[in-house]
Amino acid sequence: MNEFDLIQSYFASAGAHRSDVPVGVGDDCALLQIPAGAKLAVSIDTMVSGVHFLPDCDPEALGHKCLAVGLSDLAAMGAEPAWATLALTLPRVDSAWLRAFSAGFSTLALEHGVALVGGDTTRGPLSISVQVHGLVSTGYGLRRSGARPGDLVFVSGTLGDAGLALQRMQAGDRVADWLRTRLERPTPRVALGAALYGLATAMIDVSDGLAADLGHILRASAVAADVHLRDLPLSSEVAAYVSATGDWSLPLAFGDDYELCFTLSPQRIADLRALASHFDCPLRVVGRLRYGSGLRCVMPDGAPWHSEQAGFDHFAGDE
Ligand code: ADP
Ligand code: MG
Repeated sequence: MNEFDLIQSYFASAGAHRSDVPVGVGDDCALLQIPAGAKLAVSIDTMVSGVHFLPDCDPEALGHKCLAVGLSDLAAMGAEPAWATLALTLPRVDSAWLRAFSAGFSTLALEHGVALVGGDTTRGPLSISVQVHGLVSTGYGLRRSGARPGDLVFVSGTLGDAGLALQRMQAGDRVADWLRTRLERPTPRVALGAALYGLATAMIDVSDGLAADLGHILRASAVAADVHLRDLPLSSEVAAYVSATGDWSLPLAFGDDYELCFTLSPQRIADLRALASHFDCPLRVVGRLRYGSGLRCVMPDGAPWHSEQAGFDHFAGDE
Protein backbone atom coordinates (compact mmCIF):
# COMPACT_ATOMS: atom_id res chain seq x y z
CA MET A 1 0.00 0.00 0.00
CA ASN A 2 1.42 3.39 -0.97
CA GLU A 3 0.75 6.73 0.68
CA PHE A 4 -1.97 7.60 -1.84
CA ASP A 5 -3.83 4.31 -1.28
CA LEU A 6 -3.58 4.77 2.45
CA ILE A 7 -5.13 8.24 2.30
CA GLN A 8 -7.86 7.03 -0.07
CA SER A 9 -8.70 3.98 2.04
CA TYR A 10 -8.78 5.52 5.47
CA PHE A 11 -9.11 9.29 5.26
CA ALA A 12 -10.55 10.52 1.95
CA SER A 13 -14.13 10.01 3.10
CA ALA A 14 -13.77 10.20 6.87
CA GLY A 15 -16.10 12.49 8.78
CA ALA A 16 -19.07 14.49 7.52
CA HIS A 17 -19.75 15.65 3.97
CA ARG A 18 -20.36 19.37 3.94
CA SER A 19 -21.62 21.59 1.17
CA ASP A 20 -19.18 24.32 2.26
CA VAL A 21 -16.18 22.21 1.11
CA PRO A 22 -15.86 22.79 -2.65
CA VAL A 23 -12.44 21.06 -2.60
CA GLY A 24 -11.57 18.50 0.11
CA VAL A 25 -8.94 15.72 0.33
CA GLY A 26 -6.99 15.17 -2.91
CA ASP A 27 -5.67 18.52 -4.11
CA ASP A 28 -2.81 20.69 -2.92
CA CYS A 29 -5.14 22.63 -0.64
CA ALA A 30 -8.70 22.25 0.55
CA LEU A 31 -11.06 25.13 -0.24
CA LEU A 32 -13.55 26.07 2.43
CA GLN A 33 -16.51 28.40 2.04
CA ILE A 34 -16.75 30.69 5.05
CA PRO A 35 -20.14 32.42 5.48
CA ALA A 36 -20.02 36.19 5.04
CA GLY A 37 -19.36 37.93 8.35
CA ALA A 38 -18.35 34.78 10.24
CA LYS A 39 -14.99 34.41 11.94
CA LEU A 40 -12.88 31.29 11.57
CA ALA A 41 -11.86 29.72 14.93
CA VAL A 42 -8.69 27.64 14.49
CA SER A 43 -6.82 25.42 16.93
CA ILE A 44 -4.21 22.65 16.62
CA ASP A 45 -3.11 19.94 19.04
CA THR A 46 -0.43 17.30 18.77
CA MET A 47 -0.42 13.95 20.52
CA VAL A 48 2.90 12.10 20.71
CA SER A 49 3.22 8.40 21.50
CA GLY A 50 4.82 7.88 24.91
CA VAL A 51 4.01 11.47 25.96
CA HIS A 52 0.24 11.85 25.49
CA PHE A 53 -0.73 8.21 25.13
CA LEU A 54 0.77 4.75 25.57
CA PRO A 55 2.09 3.19 22.32
CA ASP A 56 -0.24 0.19 22.68
CA CYS A 57 -3.37 2.23 23.41
CA ASP A 58 -6.62 1.43 21.59
CA PRO A 59 -6.34 3.08 18.12
CA GLU A 60 -10.10 3.61 17.92
CA ALA A 61 -10.03 5.60 21.16
CA LEU A 62 -6.97 7.50 19.93
CA GLY A 63 -8.78 8.51 16.74
CA HIS A 64 -11.62 9.80 18.92
CA LYS A 65 -9.41 11.62 21.42
CA CYS A 66 -7.15 13.43 18.94
CA LEU A 67 -10.25 15.11 17.48
CA ALA A 68 -12.05 15.49 20.83
CA VAL A 69 -9.30 17.68 22.30
CA GLY A 70 -9.61 20.09 19.37
CA LEU A 71 -13.40 20.14 19.57
CA SER A 72 -13.04 20.96 23.26
CA ASP A 73 -11.04 24.08 22.29
CA LEU A 74 -13.76 25.11 19.83
CA ALA A 75 -16.37 24.50 22.55
CA ALA A 76 -14.47 26.76 24.94
CA MET A 77 -14.65 29.57 22.40
CA GLY A 78 -18.36 29.02 21.76
CA ALA A 79 -17.51 28.12 18.15
CA GLU A 80 -19.41 25.71 15.93
CA PRO A 81 -17.12 22.93 14.61
CA ALA A 82 -16.87 22.65 10.82
CA TRP A 83 -13.62 21.21 9.40
CA ALA A 84 -10.47 19.39 10.45
CA THR A 85 -7.08 18.52 9.00
CA LEU A 86 -4.97 15.60 10.21
CA ALA A 87 -1.18 15.20 10.14
CA LEU A 88 -0.28 11.61 10.89
CA THR A 89 3.22 10.23 11.41
CA LEU A 90 3.28 6.43 11.49
CA PRO A 91 6.14 4.00 12.11
CA ARG A 92 4.62 1.50 9.65
CA VAL A 93 1.41 0.77 7.74
CA ASP A 94 -0.79 -1.36 9.95
CA SER A 95 -4.20 -1.79 8.31
CA ALA A 96 -6.03 -2.93 11.44
CA TRP A 97 -4.63 0.03 13.38
CA LEU A 98 -5.50 2.50 10.61
CA ARG A 99 -9.01 1.15 10.21
CA ALA A 100 -9.71 1.49 13.93
CA PHE A 101 -8.07 4.91 14.19
CA SER A 102 -9.98 6.29 11.24
CA ALA A 103 -13.26 4.80 12.56
CA GLY A 104 -12.76 6.50 15.94
CA PHE A 105 -11.96 9.82 14.29
CA SER A 106 -14.77 9.57 11.77
CA THR A 107 -17.49 8.62 14.27
CA LEU A 108 -16.82 11.67 16.43
CA ALA A 109 -16.45 13.90 13.36
CA LEU A 110 -19.86 12.74 12.08
CA GLU A 111 -21.42 13.38 15.48
CA HIS A 112 -20.34 17.02 15.24
CA GLY A 113 -20.77 17.52 11.50
CA VAL A 114 -17.02 17.93 10.97
CA ALA A 115 -15.50 17.24 7.54
CA LEU A 116 -11.91 15.96 7.29
CA VAL A 117 -10.66 18.18 4.48
CA GLY A 118 -6.95 17.37 4.27
CA GLY A 119 -3.79 16.41 6.04
CA ASP A 120 -0.34 14.96 5.71
CA THR A 121 0.92 11.42 6.11
CA THR A 122 4.56 10.63 6.88
CA ARG A 123 6.69 7.82 8.29
CA GLY A 124 8.34 8.22 11.70
CA PRO A 125 7.65 7.84 15.42
CA LEU A 126 3.86 7.75 16.03
CA SER A 127 2.51 11.27 16.37
CA ILE A 128 -0.82 12.86 15.50
CA SER A 129 -1.69 16.51 14.93
CA VAL A 130 -5.26 17.61 14.37
CA GLN A 131 -6.20 21.12 13.40
CA VAL A 132 -9.83 22.02 13.91
CA HIS A 133 -11.70 24.86 12.28
CA GLY A 134 -14.95 26.26 13.56
CA LEU A 135 -17.20 29.21 12.95
CA VAL A 136 -18.14 32.10 15.19
CA SER A 137 -21.04 33.64 13.33
CA THR A 138 -21.41 36.81 15.44
CA GLY A 139 -19.06 38.71 17.71
CA TYR A 140 -15.63 37.54 18.77
CA GLY A 141 -16.23 34.26 20.55
CA LEU A 142 -16.21 33.56 24.27
CA ARG A 143 -12.77 34.65 25.40
CA ARG A 144 -10.76 34.18 28.60
CA SER A 145 -10.64 37.90 29.28
CA GLY A 146 -14.25 38.85 30.07
CA ALA A 147 -14.55 37.72 33.70
CA ARG A 148 -15.49 40.37 36.32
CA PRO A 149 -15.22 40.57 40.12
CA GLY A 150 -18.39 39.11 41.65
CA ASP A 151 -18.85 36.54 38.86
CA LEU A 152 -19.39 32.94 39.87
CA VAL A 153 -17.01 30.23 38.63
CA PHE A 154 -18.68 27.14 37.16
CA VAL A 155 -17.34 23.77 36.06
CA SER A 156 -19.16 21.22 33.89
CA GLY A 157 -19.09 17.46 34.54
CA THR A 158 -16.61 16.05 37.05
CA LEU A 159 -12.88 16.64 37.54
CA GLY A 160 -10.01 14.21 38.06
CA ASP A 161 -11.48 11.09 36.47
CA ALA A 162 -8.89 10.90 33.67
CA GLY A 163 -6.07 11.29 36.19
CA LEU A 164 -7.44 8.52 38.39
CA ALA A 165 -7.84 6.22 35.36
CA LEU A 166 -4.22 6.79 34.30
CA GLN A 167 -2.94 6.32 37.82
CA ARG A 168 -4.76 2.98 38.11
CA MET A 169 -3.62 1.81 34.67
CA GLN A 170 -0.01 2.64 35.48
CA ALA A 171 -0.28 0.73 38.75
CA GLY A 172 -1.66 -2.28 36.84
CA ASP A 173 -4.97 -2.03 38.72
CA ARG A 174 -8.36 -2.78 37.21
CA VAL A 175 -10.06 0.30 35.81
CA ALA A 176 -13.86 0.46 35.48
CA ASP A 177 -15.03 0.98 31.89
CA TRP A 178 -16.65 4.37 32.55
CA LEU A 179 -13.44 5.62 34.20
CA ARG A 180 -11.26 4.43 31.31
CA THR A 181 -13.69 6.17 28.93
CA ARG A 182 -13.15 9.45 30.77
CA LEU A 183 -9.42 9.19 29.97
CA GLU A 184 -9.47 7.63 26.52
CA ARG A 185 -12.68 8.94 24.95
CA PRO A 186 -13.45 12.36 26.43
CA THR A 187 -16.71 14.04 25.44
CA PRO A 188 -16.10 17.58 24.17
CA ARG A 189 -18.80 19.91 25.56
CA VAL A 190 -19.54 21.47 22.18
CA ALA A 191 -23.28 22.14 22.51
CA LEU A 192 -22.82 23.49 26.03
CA GLY A 193 -20.03 25.80 24.89
CA ALA A 194 -22.16 27.19 22.08
CA ALA A 195 -25.13 27.68 24.43
CA LEU A 196 -22.98 29.61 26.91
CA TYR A 197 -21.90 32.08 24.23
CA GLY A 198 -23.59 35.36 25.14
CA LEU A 199 -24.27 34.17 28.69
CA ALA A 200 -20.91 33.36 30.32
CA THR A 201 -18.38 36.19 30.72
CA ALA A 202 -15.27 34.04 30.13
CA MET A 203 -14.59 30.40 29.35
CA ILE A 204 -11.76 27.88 28.97
CA ASP A 205 -11.64 24.12 28.59
CA VAL A 206 -9.96 22.22 31.40
CA SER A 207 -7.14 20.38 29.65
CA ASP A 208 -4.24 21.07 32.05
CA GLY A 209 -6.10 20.94 35.38
CA LEU A 210 -8.56 23.41 36.91
CA ALA A 211 -5.90 25.31 38.88
CA ALA A 212 -3.84 26.10 35.78
CA ASP A 213 -6.77 26.68 33.43
CA LEU A 214 -8.83 28.86 35.78
CA GLY A 215 -5.52 30.67 36.37
CA HIS A 216 -5.50 31.59 32.66
CA ILE A 217 -8.95 33.19 32.99
CA LEU A 218 -7.82 35.08 36.10
CA ARG A 219 -4.72 36.48 34.39
CA ALA A 220 -6.50 37.33 31.15
CA SER A 221 -9.32 39.05 33.06
CA ALA A 222 -7.12 40.59 35.81
CA VAL A 223 -9.23 39.18 38.65
CA ALA A 224 -8.73 36.82 41.61
CA ALA A 225 -10.77 33.75 42.58
CA ASP A 226 -11.64 31.89 45.76
CA VAL A 227 -12.43 28.23 45.20
CA HIS A 228 -13.71 25.98 47.99
CA LEU A 229 -12.49 22.49 47.24
CA ARG A 230 -15.50 20.91 48.99
CA ASP A 231 -17.58 22.34 46.10
CA LEU A 232 -15.58 20.66 43.32
CA PRO A 233 -17.68 18.25 41.25
CA LEU A 234 -16.11 14.83 41.82
CA SER A 235 -17.19 11.33 40.83
CA SER A 236 -17.59 9.03 43.83
CA GLU A 237 -14.29 7.29 42.88
CA VAL A 238 -12.28 10.51 42.82
CA ALA A 239 -14.03 11.71 46.01
CA ALA A 240 -13.05 8.42 47.69
CA TYR A 241 -9.45 8.80 46.50
CA VAL A 242 -9.25 12.38 47.79
CA SER A 243 -10.71 11.52 51.19
CA ALA A 244 -8.42 8.49 51.56
CA THR A 245 -5.22 10.33 50.56
CA GLY A 246 -5.89 14.03 51.22
CA ASP A 247 -4.39 14.57 47.74
CA TRP A 248 -6.30 17.13 45.65
CA SER A 249 -3.93 17.07 42.70
CA LEU A 250 -6.11 14.78 40.55
CA PRO A 251 -9.06 17.19 40.29
CA LEU A 252 -6.92 20.34 40.37
CA ALA A 253 -3.68 19.68 38.54
CA PHE A 254 -3.78 16.52 36.43
CA GLY A 255 -5.79 17.66 33.44
CA ASP A 256 -7.24 15.72 30.51
CA ASP A 257 -10.71 16.49 31.92
CA TYR A 258 -11.99 18.37 28.83
CA GLU A 259 -14.73 19.96 30.87
CA LEU A 260 -15.62 23.63 30.56
CA CYS A 261 -14.78 26.20 33.22
CA PHE A 262 -16.71 29.45 32.84
CA THR A 263 -17.61 32.56 34.75
CA LEU A 264 -21.08 34.05 35.01
CA SER A 265 -22.61 37.16 36.49
CA PRO A 266 -24.93 36.16 39.40
CA GLN A 267 -27.68 38.12 37.61
CA ARG A 268 -27.68 35.48 34.87
CA ILE A 269 -28.18 32.44 37.12
CA ALA A 270 -31.85 32.05 36.12
CA ASP A 271 -30.87 32.10 32.43
CA LEU A 272 -28.25 29.44 33.09
CA ARG A 273 -30.77 27.31 35.00
CA ALA A 274 -33.19 27.47 32.09
CA LEU A 275 -30.43 26.33 29.77
CA ALA A 276 -28.93 23.68 32.07
CA SER A 277 -32.04 21.50 31.82
CA HIS A 278 -31.16 20.88 28.15
CA PHE A 279 -27.77 19.37 29.03
CA ASP A 280 -27.16 16.07 30.72
CA CYS A 281 -23.85 17.10 32.28
CA PRO A 282 -24.03 18.79 35.67
CA LEU A 283 -22.91 22.41 36.08
CA ARG A 284 -21.48 23.30 39.47
CA VAL A 285 -20.48 26.56 41.15
CA VAL A 286 -16.96 26.11 42.54
CA GLY A 287 -16.01 29.64 43.46
CA ARG A 288 -16.35 33.37 43.07
CA LEU A 289 -14.21 36.12 41.57
CA ARG A 290 -13.01 39.20 43.40
CA TYR A 291 -10.70 42.14 42.81
CA GLY A 292 -7.03 41.19 42.97
CA SER A 293 -4.94 38.49 41.38
CA GLY A 294 -4.34 34.78 41.80
CA LEU A 295 -6.28 31.69 42.75
CA ARG A 296 -6.96 30.83 46.38
CA CYS A 297 -8.06 27.22 46.91
CA VAL A 298 -9.42 26.39 50.36
CA MET A 299 -9.49 22.78 51.52
CA PRO A 300 -12.51 21.51 53.50
CA ASP A 301 -10.58 21.96 56.79
CA GLY A 302 -10.04 25.64 55.95
CA ALA A 303 -6.33 25.30 55.12
CA PRO A 304 -5.08 26.69 51.80
CA TRP A 305 -4.16 24.22 49.04
CA HIS A 306 -0.82 24.83 47.37
CA SER A 307 -0.09 23.23 44.05
CA GLU A 308 3.20 21.44 43.62
CA GLN A 309 2.42 20.85 40.00
CA ALA A 310 -0.08 23.39 38.68
CA GLY A 311 -0.90 21.90 35.30
CA PHE A 312 1.32 19.93 33.00
CA ASP A 313 4.10 21.91 31.30
CA HIS A 314 6.11 20.05 28.65
CA PHE A 315 9.05 22.43 28.99
CA ALA A 316 9.10 22.89 32.78
CA GLY A 317 12.73 22.84 33.93
CA ASP A 318 14.26 23.64 30.53
CA GLU A 319 16.99 26.33 30.53
P1 ADP B 1 1.04 17.40 -1.08
O1 ADP B 1 2.24 16.64 -1.46
O2 ADP B 1 0.51 18.33 -2.10
O3 ADP B 1 1.14 18.02 0.29
P2 ADP B 1 -0.04 14.95 -0.10
O4 ADP B 1 0.44 13.86 -0.98
O5 ADP B 1 0.65 15.19 1.20
O6 ADP B 1 -0.14 16.30 -0.96
O7 ADP B 1 -1.58 14.70 0.19
C1 ADP B 1 -2.47 14.44 -0.85
C2 ADP B 1 -3.86 14.85 -0.43
O8 ADP B 1 -4.28 14.03 0.64
C3 ADP B 1 -3.94 16.28 0.08
O9 ADP B 1 -5.20 16.80 -0.33
C4 ADP B 1 -3.88 16.14 1.56
O10 ADP B 1 -4.55 17.19 2.21
C5 ADP B 1 -4.56 14.80 1.77
N1 ADP B 1 -4.08 14.06 2.96
C6 ADP B 1 -2.83 13.59 3.18
N2 ADP B 1 -2.77 12.93 4.34
C7 ADP B 1 -4.01 12.97 4.88
C8 ADP B 1 -4.59 12.50 6.07
N3 ADP B 1 -3.89 11.80 6.99
N4 ADP B 1 -5.89 12.77 6.30
C9 ADP B 1 -6.61 13.48 5.42
N5 ADP B 1 -6.14 13.95 4.25
C10 ADP B 1 -4.84 13.71 3.98
MG1 MG C 1 1.76 16.81 2.01
